[in-house]
Amino acid sequence: AAEEGFDIEDVEGAIEEAGHGPLPVLAVIGRPNVGKSTLVNRIIGRREAVVEDRPGVTRDRVTYEAEWSGRRFKLVDTGGWEQDVLGIDASVAAQAEYAIEAADAVVFVVDATVGATDTDEAVVRLLRKSGKPVVLCANKVDGPSGEADATALWSLGLGEPHPISALHGRGTGDMLDAVLEALPEAPAQTFGTAIGGPRRIALIGRPNVGKSSLLNKVANEDRVVVNELAGTTRDPVDELIELGGVTWKFVDTAGIRKRVHLQQGADYYASLRTAAAVEKAEVAVILIDASETISVQDQRIVTMAVEAGRAIVVAYNKWDTLDEERRYYLEREIETELGQVAWAPRVNVSAATGRHMEKLVPAIETALEGWETRVPTGRLNAFLGEIVASHPHPVRGGKQPRILFGTQAGTKPPRFVFFASGFIEAGYRRFLERRLREEFGFEGTPIHISVRVRE
Ligand code: GDP
Ligand code: GDP
Repeated sequence: AAEEGFDIEDVEGAIEEAGHGPLPVLAVIGRPNVGKSTLVNRIIGRREAVVEDRPGVTRDRVTYEAEWSGRRFKLVDTGGWEQDVLGIDASVAAQAEYAIEAADAVVFVVDATVGATDTDEAVVRLLRKSGKPVVLCANKVDGPSGEADATALWSLGLGEPHPISALHGRGTGDMLDAVLEALPEAPAQTFGTAIGGPRRIALIGRPNVGKSSLLNKVANEDRVVVNELAGTTRDPVDELIELGGVTWKFVDTAGIRKRVHLQQGADYYASLRTAAAVEKAEVAVILIDASETISVQDQRIVTMAVEAGRAIVVAYNKWDTLDEERRYYLEREIETELGQVAWAPRVNVSAATGRHMEKLVPAIETALEGWETRVPTGRLNAFLGEIVASHPHPVRGGKQPRILFGTQAGTKPPRFVFFASGFIEAGYRRFLERRLREEFGFEGTPIHISVRVRE
């Protein structure tokens, strides 16, 4: 590295940064109007503005990447919910339940000027049951006079209330320090416990694509081995299902099976639930209704899984209903609308007839294999050397930026760091990704490439 003009510490630092595994997940929950969105905005530094909610307009983005004191984590914002037909308690409970389920630690926000309400107490019961670490935020403590309100929240039995003003930033630093202490380095539930255990699958897709039909098809009752939360009165959340001789863990099957029809906020719940399921899974099986035009909603779900860095399989369902004309147009739509997952294994299935169900497992295995692939540094650099020689970067301003060397910093999904002598253009980056895929496979997995430029 040194002879190429990079300081060894820079190189190591870059590799460490790029190689971060899956990020731990922090959920921000609480009643409406306690200041959740304001707090989320403050934590992410408004780099990605949380859009103002308007009635009838649902926010589709529920997870954000954030950083505090050099540690990165994912933030799940539950501020987008609307009160619906179920009433306030059930709505708060529902959003809290999904978010807690997906989280490694929880920030529970209470409005200190109002004090603890019955709804807050209900959330506390959910938090206790979950056993997840909780940081209690007494929000809207804008000045010293509010401190007493915060102290009163000891009564919730969640330990020390952290007085903060999400609006003005007062106390949020200390609170975030406490969050980092509570938050594990890696998302324990997804990856820590998964080693050697069953692989986790999230079956996702917009409403009515056939998720519940597919789940029922693959999980003939006798094949359901264990209910994860045996002994609780709730529906099972995760189910172990044997497929192709292997036991898999399907996450959030209750979310698929339980049909809570909400008049308002249904899209938001669906987004939150999808995000939560994706966070818990290693591989996302994205179900698309092949009989209907591929929609923006389908694309959003695909984006969610890609951005979360999960292994991906795309399953086109209701194949039994397709005529020749629809098949023709579907192929065109896939090309134009789903280019972002052109690398994902594809299966054409019918949950109704059972068509091609046996192809699902091999596709999932292929995707997981790509997701875990590690290219040895020697092979990678031989490959980079060939590319740079045969397809050099275009000359810019009389100079020719070159990729000097690279390394794979991490897996799940594969993450690469390339070191370059000058700015590498987006087009050339895409070319590199394409060639990497041609050379090493990576079927069914997003790949990340970051480029460091020599000073
Ligand atoms: P959410 O529904 O929990 O996401 O709540 P919002 O973040 O939308 O905040 C609800 C209202 O409380 C807004 O009018 C905010 O400006 C206000 N608010 C949020 N945090 C604070 C705070 O720390 N102090 C004060 N005074 N107002 C706040
Ligand atoms: P979910 O909302 O994604 O769980 O979708 P459902 O499983 O409830 O399915 C929605 C509708 O599509 C139901 O009426 C199903 O019977 C129907 N459906 C699901 N899969 C298929 C399929 O492969 N072929 C046909 N013809 N209909 C299907």
